[in-house]
Formats: sequence, structure tokens, C-alpha cells
Amino acid sequence: KTLLARAVAGEANVPFFSMSASEFIEMIVGVGASRVRDLFERAKQVAPSIVFIDELDAIGRARGSVASFGGVDEREQTLNQILTEMDGFTGNEGVIVLAATNRPDVLDPALLRPGRFDRRVSLNPPDQAGRAAILAVHSRGVPLAADADLDQIASTTPGMVGADLANLVNEAALMGARRSHERVTRADFADALERIVLGAERKIMLTEADRRRTAYHESGHALLGMLLPGADPVRKISIIPRGRSLGVTFQSPTADRYGMSEQELRDRIVGALGGRAAEELVFGDLTTGAETDLEQVTAIARQMVGRWGMSKRIGPMSVLPEAGADVGFGTIDPRSPSEATRQMVDTEARLIVDECHQRALDVLHAERARLDRLAQVLLERETLGEADAYEAAGVPPPRTSTV
Ligand code: ZN
Repeated sequence: KTLLARAVAGEANVPFFSMSASEFIEMIVGVGASRVRDLFERAKQVAPSIVFIDELDAIGRARGSVASFGGVDEREQTLNQILTEMDGFTGNEGVIVLAATNRPDVLDPALLRPGRFDRRVSLNPPDQAGRAAILAVHSRGVPLAADADLDQIASTTPGMVGADLANLVNEAALMGARRSHERVTRADFADALERIVLGAERKIMLTEADRRRTAYHESGHALLGMLLPGADPVRKISIIPRGRSLGVTFQSPTADRYGMSEQELRDRIVGALGGRAAEELVFGDLTTGAETDLEQVTAIARQMVGRWGMSKRIGPMSVLPEAGADVGFGTIDPRSPSEATRQMVDTEARLIVDECHQRALDVLHAERARLDRLAQVLLERETLGEADAYEAAGVPPPRTSTV
């Protein structure tokens, strides 16, 4: 966003003033407002010019809707000063004010009125061609080997944004340097990507019983990922502990996705429950290892019911706030659903999860031989790439492979 704003100023060929909203806010009340005044004063002196305020939500959150600890007065004063400055334009100052935020939903409505921030441009994460172009920018100073094909790397990074891609190039360069490569190779990029998406390996010793359980857990996820039509292809399975988890199954789509069907969402839930279902099936009891799986499952099921109208009883209504929208302590969000509706969301979400859980158990039970074989190969080899994983499970690999 910052680069885009700078590019706009570059195209317009005028002075550019940039500040992050969080920088306005200091512990001392009144400083923020005076910084805003200074900023606009300087911009007016050299007009025509562009003022860019990054992370606008840091000061522009709806007043009174979110309880925060301290700094409320300061934030309000700063926000009021911005509003005053923008209203003070008579129209011929020649100062254009741009702002950026990741959270347009929490902005104070006063900021969005006509004459203030009244035009919105929403930026989606880059598509494959966009990612290739961004990678080209970030790898300008990095010597690339002939096999490091930026289009191919872009195809393996759906969902990544500029900062992620910059980080990927950086990690790949470090990886190459550590291996004394003169140029950064395709393998350096692949390993850097693995490190970023899977987390760094952790040196701990698992008991044989824990390894076996982890192998079945990950095989459960992976096998369902291979067999369910709506699931994303399995790219990698590993039972080497990383970060908080003892194992990992990495799935990614073959192309950029912009929406999901109910069936795909259900298949995703079934797959996420696959680890736990495999443990139930094979060991007959449960462990704490499925914690993040269950968080993911709950979040998807609740969104299906409360935001995407995918349950019979709630019907096509949006009754839950957007995922990630924070509701502050002790404040009542006027959009928050009634107690009765909340209970209905819980009941309906539970119904979806129960059905998906049963399906996970059924499929794994029916495909037990594949599950055993995959877990066995995983125990022997610890990490399996896409081709080896599908071969071990005896499932034909997906037609288009990007890794
Ligand atoms: Zn899991």
C-alpha cells in the first residue's frame, strides 16, 4: 500500500508526505493533533502535494465502539484534527489526502463522508502474474540461477502479498548464501518457502509411540485431502516437529481462488478433522494434538452458518460480525446477534461439524489400508513430497502439479 501511494505521488510528480497513524499517537495528549496540523501545513505550503496516512484505523476507529486502555482522548483529538483539516479545504489548496487500512470495517463513519475519504479503492492480494512482477522487483539485487523461474515460484505462492514475497526472496537468498551458492537456485526458493509456510524444524526427540500417533494424525489429514473432491491437493507431509506442532500436512490450491462452494468448505472441515478421526480410528482415544485443527473447523463452520447463509435454520442471513472484527470489552456492538440467534448458530455449526466428523471417520474406515500404508511410509521417511505421498497412499496424483 505504501509503495502504491508513493508510486501515485511519483506519477503525479508532486511532493509526497507520508506518516503512519500510529506515529501520531504519543503518550502526551495533544501531540498527535499538533503533528497533524504540522503535516497539513507543510503539505499546503508546497501544494500541489499528496499526504498519505498509513494504518488509518490506528486513529480512525469508530469512536466509542471499542474500549481501549488509555490513549482514547489522544486518539479522538488526533482524529478530530484530521477531520478539521480535511473540512478546512476550500477546494483549491491542491492537497490530495490518501490513507490506507487493512480494516475498513472499523473506521469511524465520519471519516468516510463526502469531502473526506469518500473514494475507496480496495486492493486484493496479487494474482499469479502480479506475484511474479513483485518477485521480480524484490529480487532485482539478488543473483538468480537459471533454474530459478519467478513465474514458477509465483504459481506456488497463492495468497501471499508483497511483504510475504519480499520475505521469501530474502529467506531464499540467505538459504543460498548458507549453502555457498553463487546464485540463488530454485531449490533455495523451494526450501525457503517450506520454512516460511511450515515453520522451522524443532530439535526434539519424539518417543516411538508419539511418532506413530503423529504419522497417523498427518496421514488422516493427507488421505482425506487426496480423496475429497473439494480439498486442495496435498503438497507435503512431514512428521518432523516444527513450531508448535509435531507434524504438518501442507495443502495448497492449483490456482488462485476467489471464493469457495459449500461443498469445498465441508470438504475442508472433513480434512481438518481427519487427523483426529485417524487417531480415534487407530488408537481409540484422543490427544491434545488436534487443538489448532479444531479452532479452524469451528471458525469455518460458524462462518458458514453466520455469514455465508449455508444453514437451513438461519437461512440466507448475515448474523455474525465479520471474522476478525474485534468487539471490545464492555461495549455493545449494535450489530451483535441476540442470545437466541447465537444459540442457533452454535447448534447449526455443531450439526455441520458432526456430519463432517462422521464423514471423516467413514472415509478413513473404508480406506484403512491406504491410511496404514501412508502412515508406514511416513514413519520410514519422515517427510514426503507431493508425488511420493500420493504414491504411498495409492491415490492418482492431481492432474496439474505446481510444486
Ligand atoms: Zn492436525
